[in-house]
Amino acid sequence: MPKVLIVEDEEPLSLLLRYNLEAEGYSVEACARGDEAEIRLRESQPDLLLLDWMLPGLSGIELCRRLRARAETERLPVIMLTARGEEAERIRGLATGADDYVVKPFSIPELMARVRAILRRARPEVVSTMLRSGDIELDRETHRVRRNGKEIHLGPTEFRLLEFLMTSPGRVFSREQLLDGVWGHDVYVDERTVDVHVGRLRKAINRGKVKDPIRTVRGAGYAFNDQFAVAV
Ligand code: CA
Repeated sequence: MPKVLIVEDEEPLSLLLRYNLEAEGYSVEACARGDEAEIRLRESQPDLLLLDWMLPGLSGIELCRRLRARAETERLPVIMLTARGEEAERIRGLATGADDYVVKPFSIPELMARVRAILRRARPEVVSTMLRSGDIELDRETHRVRRNGKEIHLGPTEFRLLEFLMTSPGRVFSREQLLDGVWGHDVYVDERTVDVHVGRLRKAINRGKVKDPIRTVRGAGYAFNDQFAVAV
């Protein structure tokens, strides 16, 4: 899940951005001051920063300049949100090291397209539609799974189950967590259903002499083996 930090002091705009980004699957944090954003960015880094130009505490321009001067944030993707439309001001914005900018009022779909474009360029691993582990490849867009180059046909539930497990390799999920994540909160299914589908998934992906990428953890649940990077 790509992380986006919004630094914007207009609360309605900040909320609108958060809502739209979350709807597209981003994990969002927001703050309203430039100086506060600078402190946060020293503690942890998002995958992308949406940065307003005029901010209390520290201006967006100055914050961007400081981020570019530090090795840790030198390459952090930044989109400036600016109310200034004049050409000279736009050039100044880009000259401080922003990757892109939008002029307020901007269209949300246009901003979302720019967010995606910049993340694809700067952080391909977080927006990739392909999940890969060992000799298994899962394409989230076309819903295709291959092992060792050969296509594997999975039912929709087995596909979602594999996708869910592959997204967090090594992490052990309880049957209840798998039910929530794969079947959804509102569906009533018995926990043994999870075992049935894990069994089907294993049967489909482990044909011939191959290593089982799914680990059963007694008394806990299941995990996608993070030691699976070496194909056998
Ligand atoms: Ca502002």
